[in-house]
Amino acid sequence: MTATNTRNIVLHVADVHRHFGGLRALSDIDLQVEEGKTHAIIGPNGAGKSTLLNVVIGRLPPTSGAVIFDGQILTGKAPHEINQIGIARVFQTPEIFPDLPVLHNVMAPAFSKRDGAFRINLFQRLDTERAVREEAESLLQDVGLFERRNTNAGALSRGDKRRLELAMCLIQHPRLLLLDEPTAGMSRHDTNTTIELLQKIKQRGMTKLIIEHDMHVVFSLADRISVLAQGRIIAEGLPDEIRGDPRVHEAYLGGAIQ
Ligand code: ADP
Ligand code: MG
Repeated sequence: MTATNTRNIVLHVADVHRHFGGLRALSDIDLQVEEGKTHAIIGPNGAGKSTLLNVVIGRLPPTSGAVIFDGQILTGKAPHEINQIGIARVFQTPEIFPDLPVLHNVMAPAFSKRDGAFRINLFQRLDTERAVREEAESLLQDVGLFERRNTNAGALSRGDKRRLELAMCLIQHPRLLLLDEPTAGMSRHDTNTTIELLQKIKQRGMTKLIIEHDMHVVFSLADRISVLAQGRIIAEGLPDEIRGDPRVHEAYLGGAIQ
């Protein structure tokens, strides 16, 4: 790629509508997420954020429109196929193995990805295991859980479980990481720790789509923000543009922003 101004769009939600009976949960959604960026979707409760996320990960088919990832149409694919293609979601349902040590929890997703590897010879297998272990240890350093690598995951606090889940996602090297209200239900202290962690992860350059209604979190992390209200994108731009946009303030007036 030589052109410096060409935006490489990795995820394109193209003219998506989603109705539930007579309720228009999403209308005319057009969203483009640029490779390597952190793109946030904000909006008051009931705006359609979870519906949009569920459409992207294949849990809900759109009523019309399409989701395109890296040139491939995702619409109609099952959630596990979409995950295999490179979209991982964290923070809503921690799916850890409580009876396994933290380190093994982080190693496990790498092996399930590399399934076929077990059919190759023993030396290659040992090499693979060593490489996976080293990467898992390095990720545990990043998320601040290295000291707890031999503890069973079930014994971790709620905040630590989320950090573990993030490491389990990162070892899969997803092309797009979806963060679903990463600080929901957290204290201010845990929220700030999570923001710091996500800022650190941001330096890896992985593309992220973050759904969040806490403005503080969004403005600390996002490169670009889309504002959803009543199922429509009412504003989109850089954080500074969104911060001063009267439509955004209006959308939140009386809304259940926390
Ligand atoms: P947000 O995540 O922004 O709070 P949602 O996407 O959960 O918003 O909801 C958007 C609208 O769609 C709301 O009015 C909600 O009641 C409605 N909705 C969401 N899921 C369903 C569903 N499965 N069946 C019917 N209505 C739904
Ligand atoms: Mg929601």
